[in-house]
Amino acid sequence: MIRFEHVTKRYPDGTTAVDDLSFEVAEGELVTLVGPSGCGKTTTMKMVNRLIEPTSGRILLDGEDIATVDPVRLRRRIGYVIQQVGLFPHKTVLDNTATVPALLGWKRAKARARAAELLDLVGLDPGTFGDRYPEQLSGGQRQRVGVARALAADPPVLLMDEPFGAVDPVVRERLQSEFLRLQAAVRKTVLFVTHDIEEAVRLGDRIAVYGEGRIEQFDPPATVLGAP
Ligand code: ADP
Ligand code: ADP
Repeated sequence: MIRFEHVTKRYPDGTTAVDDLSFEVAEGELVTLVGPSGCGKTTTMKMVNRLIEPTSGRILLDGEDIATVDPVRLRRRIGYVIQQVGLFPHKTVLDNTATVPALLGWKRAKARARAAELLDLVGLDPGTFGDRYPEQLSGGQRQRVGVARALAADPPVLLMDEPFGAVDPVVRERLQSEFLRLQAAVRKTVLFVTHDIEEAVRLGDRIAVYGEGRIEQFDPPATVLGAP
């Protein structure tokens, strides 16, 4: 589904963020990318939706070289959730969630019905929360809206960059359980960045353990835990 072939990213200042990366993620697989800050995880993610371009190598999505796909069209196939989800402050939770379907030209009623369904799926009762504004939500609730919004147009791929990194540990654990339940229902192809090895092991079907610009290990949780 997602395939990296000898991908290197060198920034203009000479920093090699990612060095000759090759790996494959299967359809419906949840891969966690774990490692210390600065080892290239975010760079890896941003190349998948063409926020940045590789210096060399190529990335295939469903067998198609993403360099040949229009970035706007590409991003419709990819949901993206970051650490501090940026919600539109003047839109309600329901309208925030319906953003992408609205952009895609869905009828308003259909977009809102879909948004309500997604809010329900991430554990926010649409009747209670749909008409609220982002500032009336807790941090954990905002991240849930971010996940719902990313899924609203039903993209096959989900990129998550420390989505639960800024919430307190108790909320984080709840978000993790909910996300596992959600993923069991929707089965997206997921790349999930975290610097927390426990989170990586708990969520990942496989775990890509990063060192400086490289993946040093790419295995299921049991193997990663069993490693010396
Ligand atoms: P991680 O997500 O693992 O923290 P990043 O992919 O953000 O790592 O960064 C990898 C390396 O690339 C780091 O050394 C970082 O400083 C560098 N880097 C990231 N973005 C840029 C940029 N726009 N320009 C120059 N260097 C960058
Ligand atoms: P969490 O543990 O999920 O981070 P918080 O302690 O931030 O929760 O919030 C507790 C409850 O208060 C939540 O149900 C949230 O909806 C509500 N809440 C937080 N901020 C506001 C606000 N500005 N207006 C209305 N309700 C709020």
